[in-house]
Order: sequence, then structure tokens, then C-alpha cells
Amino acid sequence: TLKNPNEPEFLQAVLEVAETVIPFIEANPKYKNKMLLERMVEAERTIIFRVAWLDDKGQIQINRGFRVQMNSAIGPYKGGLRFHPTVNLSVLKFLAFEQTFKNSLTTLPMGGGKGGSDFDPKGKSDIEVMRFCQAFMTELCKHIGADTDVPAGDLGVGAREVGYLFGQYKKIRNEFTGVLTGKGISFGGSLIRPEATGYGVVYFAQNMLATKGNDLKGKIVAVSGSGNVAQYTVEKATQLGAKVITMSDSDGYIYDSDGIDAEKLAHIMHLKNELRSRINDYVTKYPKAKYIAGAKPWEQKCDVALPCATQNELDEESAKALVANGCMCVAEGANMPSTYEAVVVFQKAKILFSPGKASNAGGVATSGLEMSQNSLRMSWTAEEVDEKLKAIMLNIHAACVKYGADGDGYVDYVKGANIAGFVKVADAMLAQGVV
Ligand code: NDP
Repeated sequence: TLKNPNEPEFLQAVLEVAETVIPFIEANPKYKNKMLLERMVEAERTIIFRVAWLDDKGQIQINRGFRVQMNSAIGPYKGGLRFHPTVNLSVLKFLAFEQTFKNSLTTLPMGGGKGGSDFDPKGKSDIEVMRFCQAFMTELCKHIGADTDVPAGDLGVGAREVGYLFGQYKKIRNEFTGVLTGKGISFGGSLIRPEATGYGVVYFAQNMLATKGNDLKGKIVAVSGSGNVAQYTVEKATQLGAKVITMSDSDGYIYDSDGIDAEKLAHIMHLKNELRSRINDYVTKYPKAKYIAGAKPWEQKCDVALPCATQNELDEESAKALVANGCMCVAEGANMPSTYEAVVVFQKAKILFSPGKASNAGGVATSGLEMSQNSLRMSWTAEEVDEKLKAIMLNIHAACVKYGADGDGYVDYVKGANIAGFVKVADAMLAQGVV
């Protein structure tokens, strides 16, 4: 706390890991007194830079750019870029720290990093977004590379932004390499990457439910968010026979008791991805559904909750409401969407709960597959990538069970994910000496 004042998100993420990993270190002499966790919480490198760009009125705008290169013990730094007004060092350090464990869990050779800017793409013209991305990459390109640090998208950074960022990197560095993932299919992107995080969340939830002899068929599912992760979470959950009743954005949520089927989801994708409009527009086309302003979906009765918007969007009160309404499974699609207190509620109630670093790892895992395809200069089919994604999610689930099962049939996925993620990074750090 003394070393990192005013960084609540980072401290929250570290606390959650420390609580489960410290007892494990104490019980395993190999890891004791090696300052492993102390080293892991200190970023290997943090870059903070000015991003100056011209808006459509010819005015100079200034934003702050960041890249936190957290840990490269098991591979090049890897993690997304976030463009959102709430971006600051605390948020990016928490994300980069989580990413280190998540990437380790995927079993692929990727270290942890995260970056972004306090730039808000909302309300900006396409040309302004392009100018910003070019200004941002003009500095970032000095610090990244296919074998050094490979950023990807995150909040506010989708296919459009990744395309502009890649174009500028290529122009300045004069090289066509897999320096970013989430690229368009025509220039090195992987099939299934846009779908991967959402699909992975649902595959993981299926694996969790299977431990109770259950599955998603016929289940009522509440989803938050309406961005990339939420959209493909809804798509896959619906394909597997669930009824999704909610989606949201930062202003409120929609409730559709008939379920958001494939046709309705296509409309949401059109609203959000092409018109860049708000979720409340849904009720204009589907007036039977309700829009609830200023609230979150967790007040609705559901069997499964999949929070896919942002950090700390599900608090203690919401967690209690979910449990009281009979929710049996919460799989995080976003990064740290549940507050610390909310996680305690789920764990006390002994319902199935998985942290984002396990259940949303399908996105970065598929980014790892994109890196492999770029290095091999070949592309795998959608079926091949989807099969690999399913296998990776199954492996992550098995790793969580290995380290998180308490012997009474209860699996602490937080403990399991933290320890499994820690072991691989720690072993690599021990082998590489004091660096
Ligand atoms: P998008 O930008 O595509 O979508 C984000 C969604 O969350 C939007 O619907 C947005 O609404 C909503 N949202 C943002 N802030 C808030 C808030 N304060 N309260 C309620 N809703 C909010 O991002 P992604 O879908 O890519 O990412 C969602 C989450 O998943 C993030 O936590 C991200 O770090 C995580 N993640 C993403 C991965 C990926 O592959 N994309 C991989 C792993 C994790 P609005 O339009 O109002 O801003």
C-alpha cells in the first residue's frame, strides 16, 4: 500500500492473488524466501507518454498513453490496449498483473502486459480515431515488437483501432510482423479471434456446470455489457440452448423475458458495432422488452450470471441478490467485474464462481494462436481454432480443479487459477536467476 498509493484496483488484484498464493508458497520450500510474489508485483518496465493529436476542428488534444510490461518470464509481454476515460496507472497495473497469471494458465508462451490511454473514442469521428491511433503508435512502436511485446484490443479498442495501429506500426518500422493481435483477416488476423473471449467464457461455464452434472440447456442467463465479449457470450450461450434475458451498457440494461435470440442479437450487433448507438435503442424494435436506466442486470432472477462489461460492476449487494434468486454459477467474462466483497458472498454460498483470469482467458489464448499462425505464415480454419480454444478452456478448468478442489466436491476457482498461474511463472523466474 505504501509503495502504490492511490492504486485501489491494483491493490485489490494483488490482495486476491496474495491471499491464495502466500499460503501455497509457505507450504512449498521450493518457492519460499525467493521474493517471487514481491518481484511479480513490480512491473519490469512502465512506459508513460504524451499523445498529441489534432481533432476535426483543428484543435490540439492531449492524452496520456501507457504500456505496463509486467512480466516476461514465460514469453513476450502480451495483453490488450484500453482506450477509456477511466484509464490510469492503477487500472493498467491491475490488468497487467492479472494478465500474467491468465496468460500462464493458457499454457501458451506469453508474458503479461497491458496498456492504453485515457482517450475516449465515444463521439469521435472515424478520422479522429485514426489520427489518435497513429499518434499513439508513433511512440508505442519504439517499445513493442513481435518477439518483445504484442498488444491487442480491449475496451474501446476493436478491429477498427487495431487496424489503424497496425498500419502505423508497419509504416514506421517498415516490417510486416505479428506485432498486434486481433487484426483483420486480410492482414494476419485469426478466424474466431473476435468470438474467442465470449465463446471461451461459455465453454468454461459449461465445464463448471458439468462438475455438478449440469449444463446450459434451458438455463436462464443474465449477461452484462454489449461489447465484444458480451455479444459472443450471448451468441454461444444461446447456441447451447440457454435463454439470455439481459444485456447492458454503462447507462442501463435491457430485460427481454422471451430471450435475446440470434435475430435480436444481430440487431444489437448492428446497433453497437455499426451505428455505435446505445443499448436502450433495442426496445424501439422490440417494445415487449424493458429498458431499465441506471441499473445493473443482477437484480433479475437467473440460473447463470456472466458479467462481461468492466471491473467492479457487480458489488456485494448484487451478489447477495443473485444468490437469493437461486443463481448457481457466475463466470466472469470481464476482468475483475466482481468486487472483493461480492466474491466473498459467492464463495460463502458455495456456488460455482470463476474469476476472469480463468474464464475469459480464451481471448488471449486465441491471440496466442494468432501469433503462432503469423510466425508460421499460415492460417487455420475456424473449426481448427475453435477446437483448440475448447481444448484450452478444458485445460484451464482442469488446472483450477487441480489446485482449487477442497476434497468435499467444492472447487475454489480463485485459488486454483491463482496457484496454477503462479507455478509456471515462478518456475521460469527461478530458472532464470535473480532478474
Ligand atoms: P467493449 O468496449 O467491446 O465493450 C465494453 C462493454 O462494457 C460496453 O457495453 C460498455 O458500455 C460496457 N461498460 C463499460 N464501462 C461500463 C461501466 N462502468 N458500467 C457498465 N457497463 C460498462 O469491450 P470488451 O467487450 O472487449 O471488454 C469487456 C471486458 O472484458 C473488459 O473488462 C475487458 O478487459 C475484458 N476482456 C476482453 C477481452 C477481449 O478479447 N475483448 C479479453 C479478456 C477480457 P458503454 O458502451 O456504455 O461503454
